[in-house]
Amino acid sequence: MRSYLIKPSTLFFENRAYRIEPANGFGGFCKCGGFMNQLGWVNNWVMIAECESCWKVEAFVYDNFKFVKRFELEVIGIIDFLKEILTESELDSIFRKVKGLSYNYSSFSRAKKKLEEINLDINFILNELRTEFSK
Ligand SMILES: [Zn+2]
Repeated sequence: MRSYLIKPSTLFFENRAYRIEPANGFGGFCKCGGFMNQLGWVNNWVMIAECESCWKVEAFVYDNFKFVKRFELEVIGIIDFLKEILTESELDSIFRKVKGLSYNYSSFSRAKKKLEEINLDINFILNELRTEFSK
């Protein structure tokens, strides 16, 4: 599975989701030669940075403060991310719950379980979707 920056501040990496703590400052150089700005950190383990020239977003992985590797992150919105991991009926049950409509309980609990397996809390997702739908 690919690695994502789920907007605005969740990292999805090696099949698990992590909350990104916002940060700023110099984030290294991009392959295009541009400066990168830090977007945030997951503990002291992964730094996420964005290039101010080409807007590429990369993750820089550290082990005990030693640089290990860097790789590009695909930037994705929460709805598109959910479409990647949930079935249509699971997604529908979540959308309906957010909208206050009746929904299929077994689809919803399957979705909840799938999300928990990748470290995503269902209430966090419901809140993110409420924000999306109110835009
Ligand atoms: Zn760049």
